[in-house]
Amino acid sequence: MNDFAKAQRPTPKAGVMDIAAYVPGKASVAGVSKVYKLSANESPLGASPHAVEAYRATGHHLSIYPDGDVRALRQAIAETQGLNIENILCGNGSDELLGLLCQTYLAPGDEAILTDHGFLVYKIQTLAAGAKPVIVKENDTVIDVDAVLAAVTEKTRIVFITNPGNPTGTYLPFDEVKRLHAGLPKNVLLVLDAAYAEYVRKNDYDAGVALVSNNENVVMTRTFSKIYGLPALRIGWMYAPLHVTDAVNRIRGPFNMNSAAIAAGSAAIRDRDHVRVACEFNAQWVAWLTEEFTRLGLKVTPSVTNFLLVHFPDTQNKSAAKADEYLQARGYILRRVTSYGFPEALRMSVGSEEANRGVVAALTEFLKS
Ligand SMILES: *Cc1c(COP(=O)(O)O)cnc(C)c1O
Repeated sequence: MNDFAKAQRPTPKAGVMDIAAYVPGKASVAGVSKVYKLSANESPLGASPHAVEAYRATGHHLSIYPDGDVRALRQAIAETQGLNIENILCGNGSDELLGLLCQTYLAPGDEAILTDHGFLVYKIQTLAAGAKPVIVKENDTVIDVDAVLAAVTEKTRIVFITNPGNPTGTYLPFDEVKRLHAGLPKNVLLVLDAAYAEYVRKNDYDAGVALVSNNENVVMTRTFSKIYGLPALRIGWMYAPLHVTDAVNRIRGPFNMNSAAIAAGSAAIRDRDHVRVACEFNAQWVAWLTEEFTRLGLKVTPSVTNFLLVHFPDTQNKSAAKADEYLQARGYILRRVTSYGFPEALRMSVGSEEANRGVVAALTEFLKS
């Protein structure tokens, strides 16, 4: 008899019980009524009013199934981004797409490469597919292309790259991404997770569209959860070769995108002014916060995103854990990033002016106390 036959109750398949469940950013503090949630990289400007209006209108059609082809949203993405609609596949958040890619390409015995500060979802979904996550050290806070290439074996099926990185906020210049791709065997899928691409203002950054277009083994994933301010609706998309969309389409849920998401997402991505304003607001406050934290003597990893990785001294009374406690008591919820390999840092999402100024004032007091 095998182990399953002997078990007295249903047993999850191999890998599942090795998974540490994803812990979302905190949204409340016991005993504190007014909080500023700066733990999930949400947009302080919210969604486009056009997106909210489109969302509301779907309330009149709730008895009708959504369009399983997600045509309107894919069309809006294709038009605004100058892409081929056939290569676009939408998901219930890019989280779902990352999971579908693992289910499509990973089997027990296979390996997926991720970096030690990469997004936790890759590891979870790799294990869920029964495959082995191979974790490569970053060079401090930046992906080390040579180390990633050195980790490739005959078993490697996927390489996950968060670019820009979360929680680091750093980025790999496109030349480095191309060098990484050039070093990979043709049967290895390179997944470029560009959740924060819209915030980047660097000439040497590229989310990877051309790399997808010109190769059979590159996928770019994007999200409406960050600059578009629509995380509640769960909207992600990927740009991928047709053989990849064909394979993933076979296993995704037939109605994985709901009607409200399709309508709101289509309106959101057409509102280019909203995106531009959000990007400018962000750039201004990232610069201000970086300057203020640095002035307080804290080390800040230079960020091209809408959040900052702030490093605390490892003295007992000024540690990241103590700072987090101090800030939370005053209603400022940042993110502990121990599970991402930074026990002595906090990740702060750029918030409203009031929130940003409040955190700097509170940390000024904390460091003096
Ligand atoms: C926020 C984020 C996503 C987006 O996830 P959704 O499921 O689309 O909300 C993907 N990757 C990274 C690295 C992120 O930080």
